[in-house]
Amino acid sequence: MSAPARLNGVIVAIDGPSGAGKSSLTKLLARRLGYINIDTGAMFRSVALMARRAGIGCEQDAELAELCTGLKIGFERDGEGYRVLVNGEDVSKAIRTEEIGILTSCISARKPVRDALLAMQREMGAFGGVILEGRDIGTVVFPDAEVKFFLSASAEERGRRRWLELKARGEEVTLEETIAKVILRDQQDETRKHAPLKRADDAVDIDSTNLSIDEVLDLMERTVRARLLELERN
Ligand code: C5P
Repeated sequence: MSAPARLNGVIVAIDGPSGAGKSSLTKLLARRLGYINIDTGAMFRSVALMARRAGIGCEQDAELAELCTGLKIGFERDGEGYRVLVNGEDVSKAIRTEEIGILTSCISARKPVRDALLAMQREMGAFGGVILEGRDIGTVVFPDAEVKFFLSASAEERGRRRWLELKARGEEVTLEETIAKVILRDQQDETRKHAPLKRADDAVDIDSTNLSIDEVLDLMERTVRARLLELERN
């Protein structure tokens, strides 16, 4: 396959279930490669937050479609991380609660929401030089991405990581409860009709259950650099 002409570099797609380490790894890999990272989960979470504030339920498709047309979602660098902005408001913290996570899983299954965010994501990544993380990047958003990863880990390990994160943020939840929510979210994401969580046929599989973040990061960087060399040669 010859390299599509993208102005700023290739597109790297990272998909996988929640708690597999996508967010941290995407951020770190983007830094190593000098790429921009796009957290598409944060975009779906932003829609869920705004729907909740507007009193729009998960199945009110017409209202959701209208809500999406009025949303401008963006990312702004903030030290080592980034802020998530919705119509100029910093929603970085508000979108990270468990409650919004569960609501997002429902909202993100709705077609008008997926269509609206699909267009936004394609626009954001069009020039390349980006790493997008999500559930359907390699299958739906950029099926022609030059590098695709499917990152997973056991539900127990993902639940444990999530639980540690929540505890550090002062949220009072038990480990069992958190694992159960991870499993529920997986089920919702895998069984939904539109753009379900699915591994792309040409994705590189990484199971991070027994790997450190540095081991996974090195493996990803090596894979991307090898692919860049291969594309240069063709
Ligand atoms: O990645 P994160 O856990 O922040 O995503 C929150 C939710 O957003 C997921 O559980 C999933 O329902 C949804 N999502 C999606 N498609 C994406 C990214 C996230 O449906 N590309």
